Amino acid sequence: MREALLEAKKAFDSGEVPVGAVVVVDDCIIARAHNAVEATQCATEHAEKRAIESASKVLGEWRLNTATLYTTLEPCALCLGAAFLSRIKKIVYAADDIRHGACGSWVNLLEKKHPTHSLEIKKNVLQAESADLLKSFFKQRRQK
Ligand SMILES: [Zn+2]
Repeated sequence: MREALLEAKKAFDSGEVPVGAVVVVDDCIIARAHNAVEATQCATEHAEKRAIESASKVLGEWRLNTATLYTTLEPCALCLGAAFLSRIKKIVYAADDIRHGACGSWVNLLEKKHPTHSLEIKKNVLQAESADLLKSFFKQRRQK
């Protein structure tokens, strides 16, 4: 999660909403990404989706069923959907997202068991660090 937070800080420094993600397989980080919505002017260029895409490229394999995705913010419906589609084994996230979180903060895509895939979720890991970074980003943005 510390590595995901470093990615979030990169996003912060480039004027992006500070969200970072890494994909880990066998205790190794195989992919890392941060939010790039502003740089690409594409609303779906989220850290988690980009990290999943990058991990598949690295492995040459769309199935990531031994991978853990660490992300600094609760995944949105798009990114949680990408995690299901790529069969990610586990997601660990830091802060809740009341606006877009799809693990229960806004909607809960996990309340019904998936018919073929089980996805383990762990939340609130380094929650304060991520929440503080997001708070300072939005505070800075309001001041501009
Ligand atoms: Zn997302």
